[in-house]
Amino acid sequence: MKLHEYQSKDLLARYGVPVPAGEVTSDFAEARSIAQRIGGQVVVKAQVLMGGRGKAGGVKLFDNPTSVGDFVHDLIGKRLVSVQNPTGMIVDKVLVAQAIDIAKEFYLAVLLDRSLQKVIVMLSAEGGMEIEQVAEEKPDSIVRVPVDPAWGVFDFQLRKAVSDARIPKEAHGQMIDMIKRLVKAYGESDADMIEINPCALTRDGKLVAADAKVSIDDNALFRHKQYAGTTSDSAENPIEAEGIKRGIAYVHLGGDIGIIGNGAGLVMQSLDEVTAAGGRPADFLDVGGGAQAERVKSCVELVLMDRNVKGILLNIFGGITRVDEVAKGVLQAFSELNADIPVVARIEGTAVEEGRRLLQGTKIVPAATVQEAAKKIVELSYAGR
Ligand code: GDP
Ligand code: MN
Repeated sequence: MKLHEYQSKDLLARYGVPVPAGEVTSDFAEARSIAQRIGGQVVVKAQVLMGGRGKAGGVKLFDNPTSVGDFVHDLIGKRLVSVQNPTGMIVDKVLVAQAIDIAKEFYLAVLLDRSLQKVIVMLSAEGGMEIEQVAEEKPDSIVRVPVDPAWGVFDFQLRKAVSDARIPKEAHGQMIDMIKRLVKAYGESDADMIEINPCALTRDGKLVAADAKVSIDDNALFRHKQYAGTTSDSAENPIEAEGIKRGIAYVHLGGDIGIIGNGAGLVMQSLDEVTAAGGRPADFLDVGGGAQAERVKSCVELVLMDRNVKGILLNIFGGITRVDEVAKGVLQAFSELNADIPVVARIEGTAVEEGRRLLQGTKIVPAATVQEAAKKIVELSYAGR
């Protein structure tokens, strides 16, 4: 679950990470009084869970509280669109914070590196821009250090890291201190990512978190009930948000072939096979064990909310799940939604005869194996192009 910047900064402040003073609000008059209270230059920042708010017009500096009020008045209710998030997100809260007098911007993160199977600290003296862009243009500027939050980090690791990353000498001590606090916060909050971009060095030589993104491992949310209720708006994609509401494990992947399977492994295999057959998977969707027709229908609806979907591959191995229930759900969904796209189903397992009988004579194309199903759905979906 992604936390908003203001939630992330509150969390990090509890661990002694320096963050600028600020308050969150939805009201322009209150924004104005917050700016007055803070005094001096303030920065107003849209609290939407997407990257690139700065370029999207969601971050602005002000010397005067009245202009803060005007800006917030216009910003609330507006949709911000960025390269990272072309659909955009509607602003309903802003953070009004003390502006930082930035001399240099660095990138700092603690995150799970799935290929290394380790938690790593990522550090670069090239902050401010998106890390993906840094990775492309200046890959050598990024330093990665594997750490173990349960053990804590060793000073020698971090001394080498800040020096390798060419962080200016005068900031080394503060940077090492900040990293240690981040690693501690990461472990204790069950985070799977903490990103500070930019981590700012002020003109008077102080290191401050100018932005903060914390994501909490969804499987540990039961230990962090204070964030309950902010979950559904935490998904970047509206269909993922709907999936959270419906309790369906849906991940938007951006292609055009909808994937539905039962069990994460089967779904991942389907993604691989569709990709191998030349298709672009639109999503990852796991219907879960023992799914009833109603739930399967709900899953199909979810996949079809993505207007780019040209066809659906259904890969079900019925153990606890009854295949005939799945077939019923798919048929119901299609009769009610009158979606005119190809569907290929590979179904196997419990009650498979009934399932196949139900699908006979319908437009749902049967396949004996996942490979065959992938090939067929790619052919049918991309036919005539
Ligand atoms: P993002 O674009 O969503 O990552 O939002 P950020 O919070 O990172 O803000 C974008 C950019 O605005 C930063 O890279 C900074 O250059 C600038 N910015 C943000 N806060 C401040 C601030 O307090 N002072 C100054 N001078 N610039 C800021
Ligand atoms: Mn940022």
